[in-house]
Amino acid sequence: MLDVAAQNGPLFDQLADKAAEVIRSGRYILGPEVAAFEREVADFIGVEHAIGVSSGTDALMVALMALGIGPGDEVITTPFTFFATGGCIARVGATPVFVDIRPDTFNIDVEQVAAAVTEQTRAILPVHLFGQACDMEGLTGIAAKHGLPLIEDAAQAVGTKSPLGPVGSLGAYGCFSFFPSKNLGGFGDSGLVTTNDSSLADKARVMRAHGSNPKYYHAVIGGNFRIDALQAALLRVKLPELEGWTARRRENAVRYDAAFSASGLDENLLQPPPRRFEGHIYNQYVIRTSRRDELQAHLQAEKIATAIYYPVPLHRQKCFSQLGYREGSLPVSEQASREVLALPIFAGLGDARQRRIIDTVIGFLSR
Ligand SMILES: *Cc1c(COP(=O)(O)O)cnc(C)c1O
Repeated sequence: MLDVAAQNGPLFDQLADKAAEVIRSGRYILGPEVAAFEREVADFIGVEHAIGVSSGTDALMVALMALGIGPGDEVITTPFTFFATGGCIARVGATPVFVDIRPDTFNIDVEQVAAAVTEQTRAILPVHLFGQACDMEGLTGIAAKHGLPLIEDAAQAVGTKSPLGPVGSLGAYGCFSFFPSKNLGGFGDSGLVTTNDSSLADKARVMRAHGSNPKYYHAVIGGNFRIDALQAALLRVKLPELEGWTARRRENAVRYDAAFSASGLDENLLQPPPRRFEGHIYNQYVIRTSRRDELQAHLQAEKIATAIYYPVPLHRQKCFSQLGYREGSLPVSEQASREVLALPIFAGLGDARQRRIIDTVIGFLSR
């Protein structure tokens, strides 16, 4: 699906020099590399404040904790996402309220968000899935109407733009991940919290360091959610390449789109992902097909890697069974789980490899 070592290859000397510099500096926790990375990545994203943290999951934890969300509170979110989105809501003691997605973008359905707001709702947590922005006009409208903070899960959307502006800058907090398979991948785990509000930025910084302010004085309980200086330093080497890698992903998406549209196959056999907004960064390129499992097996036999994001929507996970969502309760997400298949889209995919994937997919589905 993705050759991370190949992507880092051309940068090897720069990365190794940077790692040596950090090792010699003796500054391994926060410090100048982290401060510099926070400044540079905030500029890249287009947001005032960036706070480096230990993972994308911890970015969500910091955001929820900084907003004081806990037991008795409800947070509205999508079930069609990576586990951390719902897991973090439960970990702070709040209740995830899952609402269904749109069938075209796989992103949360704004009308269903509006209908799910109750007296207990304390936040809305949309996910910019696969690198495509949610309907932020709709979501910011609902948030403003009810006075609720928006936490954007932008783990798959570093550099994604929505018509309203860069994702991660439109709500109370944005949460990003530098897991190695994300568009900006580190060398282990790390993540980022973003905000345009300086008092929310301060709260996130306090949460990142056990809630201490000043050191050894704790008005609130936080955790150890710090980014490693080494991760920050190495991400600084990769950040200038990100725009180019994203352009390459978009070119790959355009080639898939054109070939799949020209295939003449029925929509239920092969549906390329619609792009509703420019500014999609294609963390994943996800097709739908009613023959998903057979197609995946065939591609595997042809040594073409694919992935299923996500095979079980969160409302149907065993750990959330006490929430009482039955099979059929969020049908669009459930159908997506049966039909989605992610194809390789990474920057270094190359023409010949992509041609072979396209021919194999269309060839199989035409039979
Ligand atoms: C990757 C991801 C996360 C978690 O990020 P980690 O850095 O792996 O902890 C959260 N939400 C979504 C949507 C993700 O894709």
